[in-house]
Amino acid sequence: MSEIYNRVALIGLGLIASSMAYAMRRDGLARTITGTARSRETRDIVREIGFCDEVFDTAAEAVKDADLVVLAVPIGAMEALAREIAPHLKAGATVTDVGSVKRAVIDAVGPNLPNTVHFIPGHPLAGTEHSGPRSGFAELFENRWCILVPPEDGDAEAVSRLRALWEGMGSHVEMMEVDHHDLALAVTSHCPHLIAYTMVGVADDLRRVTDSEVIKYSAAGFRDFTRIAASDPTMWRDVFLNNKEATLEILGRFTEELFALQRAIRTGDGDHLFDYFTRTRAIRRGIIEAGQDTDAPNFGRGKAK
Ligand code: NAP
Repeated sequence: MSEIYNRVALIGLGLIASSMAYAMRRDGLARTITGTARSRETRDIVREIGFCDEVFDTAAEAVKDADLVVLAVPIGAMEALAREIAPHLKAGATVTDVGSVKRAVIDAVGPNLPNTVHFIPGHPLAGTEHSGPRSGFAELFENRWCILVPPEDGDAEAVSRLRALWEGMGSHVEMMEVDHHDLALAVTSHCPHLIAYTMVGVADDLRRVTDSEVIKYSAAGFRDFTRIAASDPTMWRDVFLNNKEATLEILGRFTEELFALQRAIRTGDGDHLFDYFTRTRAIRRGIIEAGQDTDAPNFGRGKAK
């Protein structure tokens, strides 16, 4: 794969940024990678691990001369960062982000950038429950989707370069309308996380379920909730604060369906339960056929203890 950008600046050096750096390096997609993070601790860790060519103390220094600037911080931090970097951006540069919500990021970042740069918001649909500079790996984006939401009058050449970068890192790229993105992600990611957080919280509240029982019997489904519910609290707080309408709409639908299932259990309506579970099983099959998860028993983990 050949070089796509001369100089890429990563603002925020956690899971997503470090994975991008490893993937770009593996395939020679960027000549130089610079970076910065909020804390000195993270900056020092990255200097030590070395996935950036240069780590700067400020975002203003990191973006100097960059052809691509990637905002890889929690959504709530993006507006202030956009303001900080704006005067230091090179004319003709592309600014993108990896935030899990798109409308709020566009409203927070867009108006603060100069019109000499191309702002092309993005969202890689890839992640783990780990965070921080030590959590990244080059394969994170492989065979995963990355959604770009370019403005209608977006520069075609800037969009196709960014697309080429994500494809170079192993992703499939799709263009999407902003509000459609936020609703689709409320269904596929945001609400499932909220439900996992709730289920784990409920188990913790139920003193009947002792610590040892929760751990011992967790393979019975609960363990998969706990993995999701271990996701970064700052990131997920910001997701819900910034995708309010879509998540509330989907939670409304969820609650109705939950009540219907609750009623079926109370009234002994086995047909309702069976039909519902048959439908959801088909959805799982579709995900596997699309290559988005493994069909291996127990999600490919070793034997459960
Ligand atoms: P992460 O591992 O927690 O890393 C976040 C980075 O942002 C850290 O380097 C942190 O610096 C920096 N940061 C936090 N607040 C800041 C501020 N106010 N100013 C400057 N830097 C700041 O997060 P991540 O998982 O990579 O997520 C980054 C973005 O990607 C989020 O917007 C998230 O919505 C999106 N995303 C995440 C996933 C996922 O599954 N994790 C998937 C897709 C998209 P310090 O270390 O110094 O605090």
